[in-house]
Amino acid sequence: MSNTCTCEATEILIFPCSGGSNVGQIANQAGVDLTRAGVGKLYCLAGIGGHLDSFIESAKAARRIVAIDGCQACCAKKTLEHAGFNVTDHVVATDLGIKKNHDFNLLPEDINMVCSDIRRQLGR
Ligand code: SF4
Repeated sequence: MSNTCTCEATEILIFPCSGGSNVGQIANQAGVDLTRAGVGKLYCLAGIGGHLDSFIESAKAARRIVAIDGCQACCAKKTLEHAGFNVTDHVVATDLGIKKNHDFNLLPEDINMVCSDIRRQLGR
C-alpha cells in the first residue's frame, strides 16, 4: 500500500485576486503563506485570465481550485469560472470582517484569518 497522500499540495492550486487594495494584497500574502506552509501551490491567475494554454492545462490537472478574493467583486473566482474552472474552495477577505482600504501595512492577523479559513475548507 502506498503511503503517498492522495491530496498532495501540488494538486491544490491557489489563486489570489492580488488586487490593488489591502484586501487584495492580504489575499496574495495568504496565498504565499499557504504555499510556504505546504498547504497548496500559489498559481498565476493572470495566466488563466489571459487564456494561456500552458496555464490552463496545468490547472486542469488540479484536484482543488482555491480562489482567494479580497472583496465581493470576486475577481479571482469569476476569472477562473470564465475560463471554465469549477472553484472548489473560496474565501472573500471582507466577508471575514476585514475592511477594504488602501493601507498596505497588512496586519498578520488578517492574513492568518484568511489562511485559517482556507485550511478549514481544505481540511489541512
Ligand atoms: S476581488 Fe476586490 S480586491 Fe480583489 S481584485 Fe477584485 S476588486 Fe480588487
